[in-house]
Amino acid sequence: MRFQKFILILAILFGLSIYVGCSSSKKVQKKILNLSIASRSAWNADNPRLYKTHVPVRITVHHEGTQLLLTDDAAKKIKRIQTWGMGKDRNWTDIPYHFLIAPDGTIYEGRNVHTVGETATEYDPSGHLLITCLGNFEKQEVFPEQLSSLIRLIAYCSIKYSIPVETLSTHRDNSAQTTCPGKNLYHYFENGYVLAEVIKLLK
Ligand SMILES: [Zn+2]
Repeated sequence: MRFQKFILILAILFGLSIYVGCSSSKKVQKKILNLSIASRSAWNADNPRLYKTHVPVRITVHHEGTQLLLTDDAAKKIKRIQTWGMGKDRNWTDIPYHFLIAPDGTIYEGRNVHTVGETATEYDPSGHLLITCLGNFEKQEVFPEQLSSLIRLIAYCSIKYSIPVETLSTHRDNSAQTTCPGKNLYHYFENGYVLAEVIKLLK
């Protein structure tokens, strides 16, 4: 009888621990999904042209490639990227990236996540969710707010679109034709910092 009671108490404790574990991980997910993202209207986006759809299964990080400072108008810069990309030079259907992060850490919505992004290099961006940090990190350092937003955005995309964080890579990992996202940002991928911080957030 005593033994049965003991087993019963053990079973209750086990059930409780699973319940507490689940509800705390749900809380973590809710907090991550609460991320503030500025909509396309924040940068006065033009309507896209007809898209090629896809399901994003991996996360790929870029830099935009032109130097940008905290004092520069990031929204105007994003609009200029769209205008150039949809113009005669590239003839893309929209801005190439799914998300863009300004030097001050503001996250902007780019093209629809369920559409294939664009690249000027040889790799096929089908299945890649493209995040870019505004700036040129061959020449400038990453702003701390920008790096912190990048980590939170990767965690957000991983939960929201069910993409395993192990798929995280950068443009240069997929293409031999580029140093994107620049050595000063790539450094944080090479030493495992970004992935470790994302995993910490998801725990
Ligand atoms: Zn790139």
